[in-house]
Amino acid sequence: MYDFLVVGRGLIGTAAARYLGNSGKKTALIGPKEPEDWQTHQGVFASHYDEARITRVLDEDALWALLAKRSIEQYPEIEKKSQVIFHHGVGGLQIGPIPVSPDDYVAKLESVAEELKVPFDQISNGQLQQKFPFFSIPKGYTGIFEDQPAGYINPRQLVAAQMTAAQQSGVEWIDQSVTSLRKSGNFVELKTDSGQLIQSKKVLIAAGAYTNFLIERPLDLYPKACTIVFAEVPEKELSFFKKMPTLIYEFEGHPKLTDIYMMPPVLYPDGKYYIKIGGGHITIGGQEDDATFFHTFEELTNWFHSDGDPAEADALKDVLFRTVPQLNKDRVHTKPCVTTYTSHGYPYIDTLEREQIYVAAAGCGASAKSSNEIGRIAAHLTEYGKWTPDIAEEPFKAVFKQ
Ligand SMILES: Cc1cc2nc3c(=O)[nH]c(=O)nc-3n(C[C@H](O)[C@H](O)[C@H](O)COP(=O)(O)OP(=O)(O)OC[C@H]3O[C@@H](n4cnc5c(N)ncnc54)[C@H](O)[C@@H]3O)c2cc1C
Repeated sequence: MYDFLVVGRGLIGTAAARYLGNSGKKTALIGPKEPEDWQTHQGVFASHYDEARITRVLDEDALWALLAKRSIEQYPEIEKKSQVIFHHGVGGLQIGPIPVSPDDYVAKLESVAEELKVPFDQISNGQLQQKFPFFSIPKGYTGIFEDQPAGYINPRQLVAAQMTAAQQSGVEWIDQSVTSLRKSGNFVELKTDSGQLIQSKKVLIAAGAYTNFLIERPLDLYPKACTIVFAEVPEKELSFFKKMPTLIYEFEGHPKLTDIYMMPPVLYPDGKYYIKIGGGHITIGGQEDDATFFHTFEELTNWFHSDGDPAEADALKDVLFRTVPQLNKDRVHTKPCVTTYTSHGYPYIDTLEREQIYVAAAGCGASAKSSNEIGRIAAHLTEYGKWTPDIAEEPFKAVFKQ
């Protein structure tokens, strides 16, 4: 019988397991590692199977910025403890239309920077080209540059680092998936895909897009299809991109996209360097098209077996090749991914069954960088059965499907 069991070997679950491991109580983390062959895999996938996620404090929203700030402050400690390097402080550029009101993107970033005392450089339209010669940005845009520790993290390596540090504190790892979970008196019983029964006094569910398949009363969760495009950068061209930061670019006038994010060249397991781009869609009348959300396990599996959505990939390529004209248009491939949203825009961190079952799920497309703090908050709630006093509870309350 465990004291604490975390379901989900993802970014949030491994962070929570590391914190729970510090309690000295019998703790385990259950969840499979990344499948070797995506095409034949019929089990669960994850949103972190990649080599780069942007990390930065500055955000339009001060609470997201706080989650990131606190997480980034812990990166050196996690790297030191685990001896796994996952953080690359290459800096981060964010661009938007020259602000005319305090509600405009760049103005909101500046206001959050002031609130949280985050240093940044204002980059005028003229300076953009001069300082970042690899980008081609039209007139009418301005930017802010957040120096290191902003940059990117390797999410696979962050999971590895959290796992290593958690295991050093005695956390056990069970390399299986949970197929069902139920309360049984004063403990929770979980069944795994190999038929094993596991018991724990308390369970924290951090199963990302798959969370609703494990709980009785479904949360108001929106697992959403997203496509990413990778453009290969030959090694001889790497020096040109040497100082490229991460980029978040909010724009106007594109028929399909509202914004994109982009990574500098990052080395992938196939031995090649890629610049990666992903983006946000224009919604119809402010409403997402329901077809882009997943409702069943099978839909998720089919999506992860695909190459993503060709129409979204074309829109991303259009922006990519206009923004980084040096790239070779023939050396491109695409991948599918899933981002899971909530009804209020923050992850759900809450109690599902008093003193027994807790949840920390739905990264809202922005939780890789902040997963450590989200995991810490969830671990505190699971360990003590009450909210940590150093952050507001209300924004993270779970909302259930009607
Ligand atoms: C393309 C893309 C780009 C992104 N870019 C950024 C970015 O630049 N910056 C940023 O901060 N964030 C970014 N994100 C978001 C970030 O990756 C997610 O918010 C983050 O991965 C969420 O962490 P998680 O632990 O909730 O989910 P995951 O990392 O998906 O982990 C969930 C885990 O649960 C496990 N699981 C599921 N079901 C079960 C089960 N039944 N039994 C056991 N285990 C189970 C899975 O195996 C998985 O490992 C991006 C996401 C995508 C898809």
